[in-house]
Amino acid sequence: VQSVDVVVVGAGSAGAAVAAGFARAGRSVLLLDKRPLGETGARWVNLVPRWCFEEAGVELPGREELFHDRPGTFVMVAPGGAASVRTRGAGRFFHVDMRRLVGRLVNEALGLGARFEERRLVELELDPSGRPTHVVHERPGGGGRERVRTRLVVDASGLGGRVRERVPVLRAACLAPGPLDRCVAAQYQLDVKDRGPLLSLLERHGAMPGDDLAFPSTEGGYSTLTITTHHELDEVGVLAGSIPAMGVRDGGEMLARFRVENPWLGAARFGGQAPIPVRRPFDRLSGPGVALVGDAACQVYASHGSGVGIGLIAARLLVEAVRSCDDPGDAKALARYDERFRQQHGGLLAASDAFRRFSQRLAPETIAALLGAGLIDEGFFSRALEQRPLRPSAAEALALASRAARAPAVAMRFAPTAARTLLLDRLGAISSRAAQPLLDRAVRELVGPSH
Ligand SMILES: Cc1cc2nc3c(=O)[nH]c(=O)nc-3n(C[C@H](O)[C@H](O)[C@H](O)COP(=O)(O)OP(=O)(O)OC[C@H]3O[C@@H](n4cnc5c(N)ncnc54)[C@H](O)[C@@H]3O)c2cc1C
Repeated sequence: VQSVDVVVVGAGSAGAAVAAGFARAGRSVLLLDKRPLGETGARWVNLVPRWCFEEAGVELPGREELFHDRPGTFVMVAPGGAASVRTRGAGRFFHVDMRRLVGRLVNEALGLGARFEERRLVELELDPSGRPTHVVHERPGGGGRERVRTRLVVDASGLGGRVRERVPVLRAACLAPGPLDRCVAAQYQLDVKDRGPLLSLLERHGAMPGDDLAFPSTEGGYSTLTITTHHELDEVGVLAGSIPAMGVRDGGEMLARFRVENPWLGAARFGGQAPIPVRRPFDRLSGPGVALVGDAACQVYASHGSGVGIGLIAARLLVEAVRSCDDPGDAKALARYDERFRQQHGGLLAASDAFRRFSQRLAPETIAALLGAGLIDEGFFSRALEQRPLRPSAAEALALASRAARAPAVAMRFAPTAARTLLLDRLGAISSRAAQPLLDRAVRELVGPSH
């Protein structure tokens, strides 16, 4: 039986970053994915804030990894088109071709000595205490079972959490997100057959080539349809996402319809569709000999279903938490990963989940009223897009209060959620062991139940 320090299940962005991190720290690493090398993880274009790369210690994406290297302005158009809010993108975000980013991270891991195998996890063998000792994997189509002994198994298998569901302590603490906590999104890069209608669309909303246009709430509260343009206007990215359990079309159906309604859109260059967990991260991220990262841990900024940046940061925190331990699966050291992740990002992600739940129930008219009244303003939009806490400065709070006084009815609808997000931002980040059960309960109450 082969033996390695760490088995990472899933070679998406989070798993590849974990594999590279452990290999760099001198551990022997086996990286498994049921898909072939070069086809793992997200296969579309994602918006990732610059600060996430910096905090994760991952080199910023170069030109060849980007849809375009000079993002313009992000414009969110209120339902009905009467109001909009905008923020500048250059220097703060990247439109990342995930095929390239995942490829870079996997190659980095391999270059540092990690081994990749195209295999599907089928079983974990546990010792009597419930700690994984062996990973059993097979060829993606079945057959050729093999066992490998390991001291740490990292679940980076995405929303499905294939490791998580096989370990009793995690199975009990981490319930798979239900349908109301799943967004189904699709993103495709499409040829532009005729630039005229695209130019008119941009002009109609005060936007220019190179800008992004987002239309929220076209399929229920949480949904969005976003068009990302290039300066040359020969290609656009179209992202569509919704929560289909709300009884609406899913992202794939939204995108298909948009293509039919806009015959200036041509063939798809590449892209894909998948569900995203849009709840706050699990309260528990590890157990003896096992840890979760990325979508498997629900490490997602729920307000817009973004998990790449936070997943890369989690990868770094995990590797660092066990760096000085002989045994990378040591439960106490892994608990430091839970603690640091929670301290640094727990509040932000819980607040984002609370806002997601609020937006999920909103009618298009209410969203239009919030934008129209200036309660969702440039500061708010800009922070949300950049996955930053929604804390307004004193001057901004004053301006918001005066706008709220002018639109009291819609402000009253928003006020409880605004107060909750501010409270969660602080509360979710507290990481006192003794107070943890109490805090978890308070966060649960404030965010709302998981479905
Ligand atoms: C259309 C769309 C648009 C999005 N837009 C954004 C965005 O703009 N910004 C952003 O930050 N995020 C965005 N997201 C979310 C983002 O793509 C995910 O959060 C991110 O890809 C999660 O990375 P991961 O490594 O945790 O998991 P994944 O990328 O899901 O990778 C998991 C890997 O595990 C493998 N695997 C699964 N089961 C097994 C098994 N049993 N054995 C072996 N291997 C297995 C899979 O083959 C896969 O390669 C979007 C998602 C979608 C669907």
